[in-house]
Amino acid sequence: MSDSEIRGRETVVIIGSGPAAWTAALYAARALMEPFVFEGAGSRTMIPGGQLMFTTEVENYPGFKDGVMGPDLMMEMREQALGFGTRSIWEDVVDIDSGRYPFRLLSNTGTQVLADSLILATGANAKWLGLKNEERLAQSGGGVSACAVCDGALPHFRGNVLAVVGGGDSAMEDSLYLTKFAEQVVIIHRRDEFRASKIMSERALTHDKIRVEWNKVVTEVLGDETITALRLEDTVSGEVSELEVGGMFVAIGHTPNAGFLNGVVELKDNGYVETPMPWRTETSVPGIFAAGDVMDDYFRQAVTAAGTGCMAALEAERWLAHRGAAGNEHSEELVVRD
Ligand SMILES: Cc1cc2nc3c(=O)[nH]c(=O)nc-3n(C[C@H](O)[C@H](O)[C@H](O)COP(=O)(O)OP(=O)(O)OC[C@H]3O[C@@H](n4cnc5c(N)ncnc54)[C@H](O)[C@@H]3O)c2cc1C
Repeated sequence: MSDSEIRGRETVVIIGSGPAAWTAALYAARALMEPFVFEGAGSRTMIPGGQLMFTTEVENYPGFKDGVMGPDLMMEMREQALGFGTRSIWEDVVDIDSGRYPFRLLSNTGTQVLADSLILATGANAKWLGLKNEERLAQSGGGVSACAVCDGALPHFRGNVLAVVGGGDSAMEDSLYLTKFAEQVVIIHRRDEFRASKIMSERALTHDKIRVEWNKVVTEVLGDETITALRLEDTVSGEVSELEVGGMFVAIGHTPNAGFLNGVVELKDNGYVETPMPWRTETSVPGIFAAGDVMDDYFRQAVTAAGTGCMAALEAERWLAHRGAAGNEHSEELVVRD
């Protein structure tokens, strides 16, 4: 990246626009750090505002006793952060030079920004089956979801037969969780054994509300306004069958939006950003912090994303103050951790 095209130097740059990013921005703005946010450019699977832009009712974000629509919640968070002086642009960061200080960021349109500190809050994407009606019903609140903890308690899932697609620990956890609300949970798995841990598999297999459709893949999601049934295909015999359901939960994993961070900070084996110290958001590179689903492969909730966003902003502020006290805040040294 050549210096001549640099847009400016920022105290704190935040990448992302979900609950983690806007909470980090709110805290940084109120601490007079004038945060600069890259919200993302938007694509078919990812839009500014994050994952909650793809959902309807959110019932488990504190402070909304009657629930709140996902997009409305994100709009409020954004407005609140902007109201305190946050600046933002709708561009994707595509490259970061973390080997030089200040850090250098490059966006998809060629914008370059220098950052004294950086908060990564680019989230994750739930994996879907890729079926046409699946996407439509997931976005319209028609009984298709990728988050059992988020949506399982919603009224239209209660007392119904619910399908869970997957065979890993998440699918087992989701199935067990859904037994609280469902009449029956049917796990649909494409093989004849789970890859989930033995203990989780056994818990699911011995639960009297759970049964398994082994060697089956979902080929079609049926239903107009809400899901009514699934068309299944047997992976061994090729036989086609229909299963009546009142909901489908896809539990086949998540992909953290961290591809562009490879080589920038350390990533875990599963691709999530590593934050080496417990209860801290600092990454392997001092001055770069990570918050929300891009670093959290376990909870993946809006409120936990917001919580870690708050932590990242406070840590960034303290890290900068510490550097300032040491009198070296404008040095250009390499800051990579040993
Ligand atoms: C359908 C659905 C329903 C859900 N319902 C609930 C619920 O009811 N309750 C709950 O607590 N949780 C729910 N969740 C989970 C919740 O949405 C996530 O845990 C939360 O949004 C994570 O927030 P985040 O800030 O980490 O990132 P995200 O919300 O994932 O947002 C990240 C955003 O960052 C931006 N971005 C990504 N890469 C770049 C880049 N390179 N440059 C610039 N910008 C970038 C994109 O705009 C992206 O959308 C749901 C998730 C889904 C998919």
